[in-house]
Amino acid sequence: MGKIFLVGFGPGSVEQMTLRAREAIAQSEVVIGYSTYIKLVEDLLVGKEVIKKGMTEELDRSVLAYEKAKEGKTVALISSGDIGVYGMAGPTYEVLFEAGWTPQTGIEVEVVPGTTALSAAASLVGAPLTHDFCSISLSDLLTPWATIAKRLVAAAQADFVTALYNPKSGRRVEQIVEAQAIFLRHRNPATPVALVKSAYRNKQQIELIRLDQLAEAEIGMLTTVLIGNSNSFVAHGLLVTPRGYANKYLSPGGAAKTGERAGRSLSSGLEGWGAQVLEQILAGASPEEMAEALALPLGLVLEVLVEPGIANVTDPRRFLEILPKLGTLWATGSGPKILTKGDGWQIQGEQLVWDQPDAYWSLYWAEAEKVYLLERNQECSRALVLNRAGDLLVGFELTKTAGQFENSAVKALKSLG
Ligand code: SAH
Repeated sequence: MGKIFLVGFGPGSVEQMTLRAREAIAQSEVVIGYSTYIKLVEDLLVGKEVIKKGMTEELDRSVLAYEKAKEGKTVALISSGDIGVYGMAGPTYEVLFEAGWTPQTGIEVEVVPGTTALSAAASLVGAPLTHDFCSISLSDLLTPWATIAKRLVAAAQADFVTALYNPKSGRRVEQIVEAQAIFLRHRNPATPVALVKSAYRNKQQIELIRLDQLAEAEIGMLTTVLIGNSNSFVAHGLLVTPRGYANKYLSPGGAAKTGERAGRSLSSGLEGWGAQVLEQILAGASPEEMAEALALPLGLVLEVLVEPGIANVTDPRRFLEILPKLGTLWATGSGPKILTKGDGWQIQGEQLVWDQPDAYWSLYWAEAEKVYLLERNQECSRALVLNRAGDLLVGFELTKTAGQFENSAVKALKSLG
């Protein structure tokens, strides 16, 4: 029975290859790969059948590997970095499944991991990945730009250290400009950026720049771009991202700050952050303000208020039973603020509708996942309708002056038992 090795041989130099990758190539009778990669491991290929394929024949390589394996041969399909990271491992499995292969059919498939470009690049510029990071490929050859842009926005907003693969090629020159523009909407222009070209290869080149210089920088097919997070810094020509010791300790290796303990979650960790949110809400901050300040969905903030009894949670169906009992209320969401009465609303199909002689407002009620009822202060109580993501669909606000505060949502809920 044949075997297929899917081998990632690292960034380019033999030293950065794993022992297993060398073994896999040594054990193989057939080695298939992109011509440039084949050249990088030429010394290992003596006496083997070597099949060089061009860049555009990617899937042919997988098909060929399967055919050779069916002939009983051991085949290594090699590619740079980690073959499972933007590499041939995925497409090969897809080709194999298509051809009826399963792990039980007898031909073994082994994926041999390798050092991927982002860790290779990181090692050459310092330690930029010591906190949360993500990678985004700017190649729109197989991915819609809207998908890439969405991920760039999310990474920029969430303050991930971000590795950009496939940043630019002869034909794709504008993607990196767009990526920079998206990042600049959320990040400081002075954010440090490392450009690493041909890591661990002959033409290796390293440059440290600022985010606002990215569009003009010299970038090519073999460059990996590493964008730091808001804490990343450059010192002595090295890009470093702190792990967070400063959140807990007064100085490196020094004593813990008041309220913090070694080996324990931060006071603002999962256990503690709720108490901090609660404190600020009790001091007068609104849940919306907190959500905005923390860049979290409103639902996560409201969840914190349930246990101490500041918010009650109910499901949308239940809320509809309460709604007609409510007196005068304000309905607010992303749309205009409407002064209405609870009994003015009705369900029409999947819509919650407010249909008046000279006005109409509707909400796709199927999206409503949870309703939080809270008393904001003595003057007003509120019902916040959230979708599954925890974002606000509509808020109902009952004000004392506008209506019968006696009929507050919380009380109406309690009356239902
Ligand atoms: N499987 C590979 C990635 C393939 S995508 C891996 O795990 O590394 C190709 C992209 O990877 C290139 O456009 C470049 O952004 C990056 N890359 C690959 N090799 C590199 C190297 N030696 N130095 C810097 N970047 C590299």
